[in-house]
Amino acid sequence: MKIVKFAFSLFGINTYLVYDPATKKCAVIDPGMFDREEEEAMERFIERNSLEVTHIIDTHLHVDHAVGIGFLKQKYKAPLFAHKDDEFLGERIRQQAQMFGISNKVEDVSIDSYLTPGEVIKIGEGELKVIHVPGHSPGSVALYDEKDGFVITGDALFAGSIGRTDLPGGDMTTLLKSVKNGLLTLPSSTIVYPGHGPATTIGQERASNPYLA
Ligand SMILES: [Zn+2]
Ligand SMILES: [Zn+2]
Repeated sequence: MKIVKFAFSLFGINTYLVYDPATKKCAVIDPGMFDREEEEAMERFIERNSLEVTHIIDTHLHVDHAVGIGFLKQKYKAPLFAHKDDEFLGERIRQQAQMFGISNKVEDVSIDSYLTPGEVIKIGEGELKVIHVPGHSPGSVALYDEKDGFVITGDALFAGSIGRTDLPGGDMTTLLKSVKNGLLTLPSSTIVYPGHGPATTIGQERASNPYLA
């Protein structure tokens, strides 16, 4: 599948649009568009490429990865996929937003379809495999496109860093185990698309990420 990155500014979040060029089906992952301008950037891309949004997928339900869910659901009528263990966070999006002073502009979200570890999500003819990577949040997942060699890691793994573990349900030992067993075991050439910051590769992080030594 093809992958396109949108960097939305309020939270410095990477939202990814993944699509199958053959069938034009697409998934929006971690929607962080916040104002009208950011919504329009995504709308334009979808329209220009004649895409159909079939999935909204969240790697986890922290507010920065979830502020655009309401807009997408309303506009494209697509269901939200996320891991059940982050449902408590989805029910607290407004509460999470309080620290940013935007709780009146966001909505709590409910998961339409639970992601299960090892499950393969079909986007048209493309496939994303769900890897459970708890630790940053209990229901964090990574989404792996084996055929095209990339993995979307949310806030579990970044270029040169890993996610924070001081938020509700976070745990450092669990996160390290998730990243080492679930992500670093992927092929070295796999491109890593994190929730914040630049892309990297599994090989690069295995060799030089200071948190994983
Ligand atoms: Zn997060
Ligand atoms: Zn984040």
